[in-house]
Amino acid sequence: MSAPAPIPFIDLRPGEDEVAVRAAIGRVLARGWFVLGPEVEAFEHEFAAASGAALAIGVGSGTDAIALALRALDIGSGDEVIVPAMTAAFTALAVIAAGATPIIVDVEPDTLTMDPHACAAAVTTRTRAIVPVHLYGQPADMDAIRNVAVRHSLAIVEDCCQAHLATEGGIAVGTRSEAAAFSFYPTKNLGAFGDGGAVITGNEALASRIRQLRNGGQPERGRHVEAGVNSRLDDLQAAVLRARLPLVPEWTTRRRALAGRYRELLPASLRIIRERDPGHVYHLFPVLAPERGALQAHLSAAGIETMVHYPAALTNQPAFAAFVSHECPVAVSAAGQLLSLPLSPRLSDEDIVRVADTVAAFAKGHRPA
Ligand SMILES: *Cc1c(COP(=O)(O)O)cnc(C)c1O
Repeated sequence: MSAPAPIPFIDLRPGEDEVAVRAAIGRVLARGWFVLGPEVEAFEHEFAAASGAALAIGVGSGTDAIALALRALDIGSGDEVIVPAMTAAFTALAVIAAGATPIIVDVEPDTLTMDPHACAAAVTTRTRAIVPVHLYGQPADMDAIRNVAVRHSLAIVEDCCQAHLATEGGIAVGTRSEAAAFSFYPTKNLGAFGDGGAVITGNEALASRIRQLRNGGQPERGRHVEAGVNSRLDDLQAAVLRARLPLVPEWTTRRRALAGRYRELLPASLRIIRERDPGHVYHLFPVLAPERGALQAHLSAAGIETMVHYPAALTNQPAFAAFVSHECPVAVSAAGQLLSLPLSPRLSDEDIVRVADTVAAFAKGHRPA
């Protein structure tokens, strides 16, 4: 008997979208306009509409989207910005890129999103903003976080880099804050063939400032009024994103269905992230396994590829050693146990059953005494 086909964590080669993305690329080559051209402008309109926002500004990455949104809010040197300890390090790197100080706080044990109590406890007279992260595609507890922001007059810039088209209490993520940041890194729910990002906002003045900042601080060509950066979305990426955006709702439905199967099939002994909001878009499906290394090896031997998101709490990353001010035991403990199972819209129901069965077989052999 031959071994079953491997189940990759993700396959980034185009699939059902291939004809559309090739046509989009051909259109850009034929036009010969590659940066901040008509594809970027059209994508900004289409992405804003799909995200329930008035305005979208295409930038070079999700990291830049967070940093430029903060800078456009005049947040920088001497200002503190609260971020969760379990996230991609880029969330906190963006705060540093804006010139501000990241204040790292712990997350909730069942969802691993920012703990609103920890957030409230970290507010000082220098705090200017909160950057909640909709981790793995699940909205953070925004009602509670908004309460903290309102009480202390803080801005909120939502990190939606894993939460394209997610909703929170039935309302599009990012639309009830000053601004929200998205990434189009190839692995994201809406991914390009390179780096890309966008900010959404309902505030025209903020949008103009971000447009100026992304393009060298120029309100118009040749006049630099502030020290901006070069962080422009390019037309090839925008054209690819335009071709894929209409498919994201179907892909999201499929992600939710596969995640639902995992929830039914995985052994009860395994800790999984609680679904607090059905607006969760399942960018990832992590489980918490005390014997993570052994489980990962067991799955790998069965041809099932997994990844770790994330192997360290931000407080344990050397880059942030100077910024650690609060203990984050929940994030630290989770970082030692997290294992992301394959969850891509292209996987079959049988693939999910095979992953779940393989996890169950491991759990049986490792029952706590
Ligand atoms: C991907 C990601 C980022 C950074 O986005 P880039 O486009 O890679 O710069 C920031 N925060 C989170 C939560 C992410 O997943």
